[in-house]
Amino acid sequence: MKQPLIVQKYGGTSVGSIDRISKVAERIITAKNEGKQLVVVVSAMSGETNRLLGLAKQIDNVPDARELDVLLSAGEQISMALLAITLNKMGYPARSLTGTQANIVTDNQHNDAVIKHIDVSPITELLLQDQIVIVAGFQGMTEKGDITTLGRGGSDTSAVALAGALQADECQIFTDVDGVYTCDPRVVKNAKKLTVIDFPSMARMAKYGAKVLHLPSVLCAWENQVPLRVLSTFDANTGSLVKGDKCLLPLCGLALQRDMCLIKIAVEALPTVKKQCGMIGIEIWDVIEHPDWVGIVVKQDAYSKLELVLQGRVANSHPVSLLTAVGAKAEELAKSSCQLLIDNEIMTIHQKLDNQSFTIALFPDCVDSAANILHHAYITLSEAHDCLQKDAFLN
Ligand code: ASP
Ligand code: MG
Repeated sequence: MKQPLIVQKYGGTSVGSIDRISKVAERIITAKNEGKQLVVVVSAMSGETNRLLGLAKQIDNVPDARELDVLLSAGEQISMALLAITLNKMGYPARSLTGTQANIVTDNQHNDAVIKHIDVSPITELLLQDQIVIVAGFQGMTEKGDITTLGRGGSDTSAVALAGALQADECQIFTDVDGVYTCDPRVVKNAKKLTVIDFPSMARMAKYGAKVLHLPSVLCAWENQVPLRVLSTFDANTGSLVKGDKCLLPLCGLALQRDMCLIKIAVEALPTVKKQCGMIGIEIWDVIEHPDWVGIVVKQDAYSKLELVLQGRVANSHPVSLLTAVGAKAEELAKSSCQLLIDNEIMTIHQKLDNQSFTIALFPDCVDSAANILHHAYITLSEAHDCLQKDAFLN
């Protein structure tokens, strides 16, 4: 009988110490003893990528992109080796592979590369030898053999891409939260865990700031129809399953994006600014057109890059936060949501409708209350929510 093939991914907190690495090894061994073939993707130990980045920034605030990838990829290389050493010591043969050794080929976009294809033969060969295969997340190589990284949080994407290429039965993302919630539980105390969530809704949540999964990983799983499960490393439960193409809930979740910046520019400067952003790879999230000014919304960390380019054309800039509601009825609920916020004396700067979602730009200090108000009205009080989640669970 064919053994099921599972790709598991463990994040930085899960491999954050030797003690935690041995807990991870135990989980892997349990799955192995159940007769599964295992490919395990690891992140760098928690804090390690930031530490390495900090070292480079002590030298140059915008470090050479190729060399930064060489540096940052080392973080994952440490954790993969420590995990393989642990498993071998526990009597379970394991082999670690860097992105290059695993033949993960990306484009040439250093620091933010996209996986183009994976030749899985080195991995399948090891699986045939009954080895547990550990792969460094977040990294690959260009056609020429230069090391690349996939953007912050990119290990999820490595795991899903490997699961797709290997035609795995499931891709399990182990993390420090036990699933996908209707909103960040640190902000909304009674946020609910979603038993299942469809791919398009999960993609919108990730795009608009839900940190639980990296957006490209969701898109890649969706494209390859790889069932994706988010679960906790530290306690046993079934987590949340991401699958299916259709959202059935009126509102399934709220996502928060805090680190944004609204830059006001002169109306006539807009076309040039758009072009320049495109040239230096800065994504404009939104353009706000008021009668007397134009604002562009970008990530705060893009702002320093942009400042150099814009030189003097910025009228003023200030931090904003975005609150995005996702669900089948989101567009219909946008107007009443804004009214509800106004009734609660929360000032909104701007709102934007998209396919099955709406986004409200707010001053950073009121985004948490806004999230609580909308969550209470459209999720906590929604019976549809509970019924559909129960159905999903029973199916
Ligand atoms: N270590 C990388 C980061 O901190 C990649 C990851 O953890 O997924 O962003
Ligand atoms: Mg992550």
